[in-house]
Amino acid sequence: MDLKSGLPFWLIKNGLTKSYLRLEEDIETEVLIIGSGITGALVAHFLCENHVKCVVVDKRMESTGSTTASTAQLQYEIDEYLFDLIQKVGEKNAVKSYKMCLKSISTLEKIIQKLNIEVDFKRVPSLYLASDAKGKKELEREFEVRKKHGLPVEFLSEEKLFNKYGIKRKAALYNNESAQVDTYKLCRAILEYHKKNSDLKVYSHTHITTIKSNKNTITATTDKNIAIKAKKIVAAPGFESESLLDEKVMQLSSTYVLVSQPMHPEDLWKEQCLIWETARPYLYIRTTEDNRIMVGGFDEPFQDPKKRDQLMEKKNKDILKRFKKLFPDSKIEMDFYWCGTFGGTKDGLPFIGEHKKHPNMYFALGYGGNGITFSVIAAEIIKNMYLGKNTQENIFRFDR
Ligand SMILES: Cc1cc2nc3c(=O)[nH]c(=O)nc-3n(C[C@H](O)[C@H](O)[C@H](O)COP(=O)(O)OP(=O)(O)OC[C@H]3O[C@@H](n4cnc5c(N)ncnc54)[C@H](O)[C@@H]3O)c2cc1C
Repeated sequence: MDLKSGLPFWLIKNGLTKSYLRLEEDIETEVLIIGSGITGALVAHFLCENHVKCVVVDKRMESTGSTTASTAQLQYEIDEYLFDLIQKVGEKNAVKSYKMCLKSISTLEKIIQKLNIEVDFKRVPSLYLASDAKGKKELEREFEVRKKHGLPVEFLSEEKLFNKYGIKRKAALYNNESAQVDTYKLCRAILEYHKKNSDLKVYSHTHITTIKSNKNTITATTDKNIAIKAKKIVAAPGFESESLLDEKVMQLSSTYVLVSQPMHPEDLWKEQCLIWETARPYLYIRTTEDNRIMVGGFDEPFQDPKKRDQLMEKKNKDILKRFKKLFPDSKIEMDFYWCGTFGGTKDGLPFIGEHKKHPNMYFALGYGGNGITFSVIAAEIIKNMYLGKNTQENIFRFDR
């Protein structure tokens, strides 16, 4: 699958900081991680920290799947309203998953501090705007539910929103617990850190095509017929899960992003909050460390790369127009743009853990707009399962 097109900003900004070689001979390890995106990198981090011998492989150049295309807004709120999620999975599970997302941002911050890596992680508030009167009603309801469950949230009236941020919308939810990061840089820094300090092995251009499980071992074989024998395999293939799982678990869509030329900081909005809205598909907005504006949205419910790419220019215009409606005085001018594939699940939650048809494997799949927080959650759960500290987390089971 072609996961992205155009020029993802992070790839241009960071370049190819480090390249790994293809695997050329049979090897053995404790855990084989398939996928070197942010999910695979975080799984490797938690396992390496616990002295588990790991190998990471990727069919592409490392970390250049969806992770390079991401706008990397880190929010505890997922695409599903908490009140909707409660209807779908029950109050206990819904609230638990929201709280796990909240905690995952701090977990990621601590990992970055511990490894002492510079990855443009920045704490920024988040504004969830009501796109219309219906959105305002939804935000009122959502505010009450989040407040009841002790989640950090503030309700901004139309007047307060305008006075503080100069944004004309009927209402917004505000929280001060969000963050942004350069995920591509983060992912590569984690892999490189553990390669140097934990003997992690990373191989790019190594495509796993078959997997065979025995009683206590599992063997993955590449398209070049090279075998990797392990005790367990962690499948972190992002939105390409179909190559490793005989079950469709995600609905794939296409999304579009553009990045502005650098701006004068005084021409940006207050606090440079993350911004998104109640309309579906929604516009999502952040800034970068060099004061560019990154805006994405106008998703389409298909993933056909040809069809997706043909729409790119039109989508850029649409995004700019919608952005200017929000900030009519903005001097935004586009510098780069790209589009990417992403997937969501029926209830908005990921699939993490074992699958009955795939013994000796753990999966970390199914992300939606908040994939990175779910990557952190998945990595920690899988580490605990491997170390025998935890059983399957029920909320994220395949058969939930
Ligand atoms: C435009 C866009 C904006 C986004 N914005 C946000 C955001 O603001 N916040 C957020 O949290 N999330 C966001 N996301 C989602 C987020 O980027 C993803 O959830 C996340 O990057 C997924 O990481 P991953 O490691 O699971 O997948 P990937 O980064 O795709 O990594 C999986 C890797 O597995 C490899 N692979 C697959 N199959 C095989 C195989 N058989 N053998 C070997 N290798 C294989 C692939 O080559 C790939 O490199 C966004 C996504 C897009 C596209």
